[in-house]
Amino acid sequence: MSQPSNEPSFRESVDMMFNRAVALMELPPGLEEKIRVCNATYTVRFGVRLRGQIKTFTGYRSVHSEHMEPVKGGIRFSLGVNQDEVEALAALMTYKCSLVEAPFGGSKGGLCIDPREYEEHELELITRRFAYELIKRDLINPAQNVPAPDMGTGEREMAWIADQYKRMNTTDINGVACVTGKPINAGGIQGRTEATGRGVQYALHAFFRDPEGLKKAGMVGALKGKRVIVQGLGNVGYHAAKFLSEEDGCKVTCVIEYNGSVTNDDGLDIEALKQHITETGGPDGFTGGTFHKDGTHLLEKECDILIPAALEGVINLSNANNIKASLIIEAANGPVTAGADEILRDKGVVIIPDMYANAGGVTVSYFEWVKNLSHIRFGRMQRRQEEARHQLVVDELERLSSDSGIGWQLSPNFKDKYLRGADELELVRSGLDDTMRNAYLSMADVWHSRGDVTDLRTAAYLVSIGKVAASYRAKGL
Ligand code: GLU
Repeated sequence: MSQPSNEPSFRESVDMMFNRAVALMELPPGLEEKIRVCNATYTVRFGVRLRGQIKTFTGYRSVHSEHMEPVKGGIRFSLGVNQDEVEALAALMTYKCSLVEAPFGGSKGGLCIDPREYEEHELELITRRFAYELIKRDLINPAQNVPAPDMGTGEREMAWIADQYKRMNTTDINGVACVTGKPINAGGIQGRTEATGRGVQYALHAFFRDPEGLKKAGMVGALKGKRVIVQGLGNVGYHAAKFLSEEDGCKVTCVIEYNGSVTNDDGLDIEALKQHITETGGPDGFTGGTFHKDGTHLLEKECDILIPAALEGVINLSNANNIKASLIIEAANGPVTAGADEILRDKGVVIIPDMYANAGGVTVSYFEWVKNLSHIRFGRMQRRQEEARHQLVVDELERLSSDSGIGWQLSPNFKDKYLRGADELELVRSGLDDTMRNAYLSMADVWHSRGDVTDLRTAAYLVSIGKVAASYRAKGL
């Protein structure tokens, strides 16, 4: 969906939301601007010999804030990539990392390319060449700038980037930490692929534990049974929709893709739909629901929770008034424009903002980076020791029960669960859940306690900018 031309650009939209929040803060003169502006954007144009000719590509890496290093943020492969977009996304990374206490500044990268037009070996050549350009300028470096997947990239691209870095820095013992979102066999961590979608699920759990928040959204009851619309069944949308429908009992009544949509008021089978899309290229022909050629108007369909998990700017001045959802959770970065945000606020729609809602990805990236720097998998030292200690308790309970003649039996289900030490995936999920709960509480505290803060986005900015400002102050700025 194209954004109406009377709306500000994505970066201006982020700046407007930032300005709205800092107007409520007392920052030292000039610090506000220092935090808002993007420190640097590097543009590179490079040629790759493909199909008998040299093809030139344009890429960017923006560094928004270096109040903490390394700086962190994904690399996007999309034809829509431009400097404005990359800078907006880099700014959001600063605020996101600060809010969830991932110790990074914000950065983002992008390459103008439609990855679907290229064969795998061609994409490898292009990715390695782009990585080479960034690595030689320390724009990929475990101590300075650590990319990750974003739209159009995944663990395959991250493995190529890590390998490229290793080739150019053969003696860097921490080289594998130069990028996150790698496959397990190339230094990745369990649970990174699902992390952003999992984070969306944990964010909703946190919201549904907040009675005051629910009241503000005019919602009642539990997450179970809520009708959900998801836009975008890519990595984030797919995992969020899958976990919400399979584990939380939500009904995903509509999935909107760029090439068509499907609706089913009884709830869609997300796994089957994803499989159909992977096999055939789109939702057309899926038998588990009604197909619609164009989907964007379905953002306006009746539902409880709307999850935009695709592009920025999809909820804008042209459709904000027609949105029926009580709750919007921004799984994508920047899906609601500043203008739409105002309309939705006036309508009483609660928006769980991107910088919080999709922070699961960078949170687990942080865990992966720590794992890489410590050169050991999480749980490797403790797991069996933990199991042995739990076994002691179980043995003792069973001995007491039989010695005293009471004859209690521990249920096999309890024993199974209690005796199992946590593996890496469980630890990652626990760390992510803890992060999402704490960040929610910090936002909600501001949202519910300050009369001048009427929405979660402003609350998120206040918490996040407060932390960035504190770290500038600590540096003597
Ligand atoms: N691209 C993701 C984001 O927008 C992940 C960034 C990361 O893991 O560094 O948050």
